[in-house]
Amino acid sequence: MNFEEIKQDEQQYLMHTYGRFQTALVSGKGAVAKDVDGKEYIDFTSGIGVNSLGYCDEGWVKAVTAQAATLQHISNLYYSPLQTAVAKKLCELTGFDKVFLCNSGAEANECAIKIARKYSFDKYGSGRQKIVTLVNSFHGRTVTTLAATGQDVFHNFFFPFTEGFEYAAANNIEDLKAHLTDGVCAVFVELIQGEGGVMPLEPAYVEEVQKLCQEKDILFMIDEVQTGISRTGHFYCYQGYGLQPDVVTSAKGLGGGVPIGACLCSEKLSDVMTAGTHGTTFGGNPIACAGAVEVLSRVAEPGFLQEVREKGDYFRAALASMGNVSEVRGQGLMIGIVTEKDNAKEIAAKCVENGLLVLTAKDLVRLLPPLTITYEEIDRGLAILKKVMEA
Ligand SMILES: *Cc1c(COP(=O)(O)O)cnc(C)c1O
Repeated sequence: MNFEEIKQDEQQYLMHTYGRFQTALVSGKGAVAKDVDGKEYIDFTSGIGVNSLGYCDEGWVKAVTAQAATLQHISNLYYSPLQTAVAKKLCELTGFDKVFLCNSGAEANECAIKIARKYSFDKYGSGRQKIVTLVNSFHGRTVTTLAATGQDVFHNFFFPFTEGFEYAAANNIEDLKAHLTDGVCAVFVELIQGEGGVMPLEPAYVEEVQKLCQEKDILFMIDEVQTGISRTGHFYCYQGYGLQPDVVTSAKGLGGGVPIGACLCSEKLSDVMTAGTHGTTFGGNPIACAGAVEVLSRVAEPGFLQEVREKGDYFRAALASMGNVSEVRGQGLMIGIVTEKDNAKEIAAKCVENGLLVLTAKDLVRLLPPLTITYEEIDRGLAILKKVMEA
């Protein structure tokens, strides 16, 4: 099949929910993807922050294929040493007490929302079910996580949305205080809003949010679906901020390319979700867990985290001297580039033509390269980006 045939079939058989770049990717190695015509691309996207170890990392391929050839699925009616390995490693790396395994970011967030409401219901009875999220946030595409998302554009068509979400302006402690009424059970934030345009929260603001939550027994929950799994140069971004949230959600980079999500909770919440209150058929699937075990055994090493920070600095230094760049935001290998010409979408499309994959977020160019990207790959990609940005 050639590209035009694939494109035609896509038009005919897939729901038109995505705007796609004009290429069909069929193979890859490291940070280099190849399309159906054999053209190569440097990949600064890692499948939107998913392929933590790049394409077809040797250890990851071995772990996933060996598991596929051993036992691919068992359901949650039985114990699984792979699930326990993932959960144990996540707890060891964070100090959290319990983990629920699922299949995506939205699902991990659904679990966090259920924990918050049930914790509060068990302790205080009904009427304390509101969750405060931030304006410009993104928390997923289910009807409930759309409601949690603090952007009006996502609150269309699918009425009625789940009730009980309010949106406070980011980095504005007075606005948050105004929302923390008696009916609130949780505050749920991204530390760096990813889809919202790589917008970081200020450390002083987040510390104050955590303090206010602790005072009122309001759960402090962090969506690390994009910022987690060493993306920012810390295993979870909150660890770099020195925070102690009650709940953290994770997905994207966790499985290195297989679908897996996780909701982590602190000791005081360990017993909130009891038998029958939550579940998912695929959650903790052995193949997905095998991928996650491999990722977790690699990306949290101090030397690895140090390298992520150094590569991030290297990107920033190069971007600072590039034409059409007016601001660079983000942390580690989560990078947002504001362009002078306000032409991020056009830049992203031109990059594809020139053999480079980049993302956009709002009106920014966004980079989420694989954490294992080499300096040689970074240089090749940056040379293309420079050419396109300065054209
Ligand atoms: C991508 C993302 C989600 C949604 O994850 P899915 O796996 O697409 O459901 C939720 N929150 C944040 C911060 C994300 O970046």
